[in-house]
Amino acid sequence: MSENGCIFCKIASGEIGAEVVHDEEGVLAFVDIDGKAPVHVLVIPKEHVSSLEEVGRLPAGVVKRILEVAQEVAEKMDVAGSGYAFRINNGRDAGQEVFHLHAHVMGGRKMGMP
Ligand code: 5GP
Ligand code: ZN
Repeated sequence: MSENGCIFCKIASGEIGAEVVHDEEGVLAFVDIDGKAPVHVLVIPKEHVSSLEEVGRLPAGVVKRILEVAQEVAEKMDVAGSGYAFRINNGRDAGQEVFHLHAHVMGGRKMGMP
């Protein structure tokens, strides 16, 4: 299910372009438009859920694949060896801007805690 006006639903459906790194049935990974690290990729479920608050709506296999795809993307982008941050901004205090669940995969430099 997609949600009207959701930018990541539009990317998932192909309505809006993105630099896709990985594409499979339930999960998409694409380069962040405003990268905060040399490697900055977003991994999303194609189905719309706004945040971790709704993660229970996703099939368990999709949730698992988000984690596995993060690692696969890190390998593809050559940061798996050096390490990378896997981060989900959830809600206001975390600075979540796009309310379609997404995980950031960031690497290529030291990624400290904020
Ligand atoms: P959040 O703070 O919600 O976790 O992060 C949202 C991320 O989505 C930001 O890093 C932002 O640069 C990225 N972003 C927002 N709009 C677009 C877009 O249209 N395309 C791509 N590729 N990334 C986007
Ligand atoms: Zn969405």
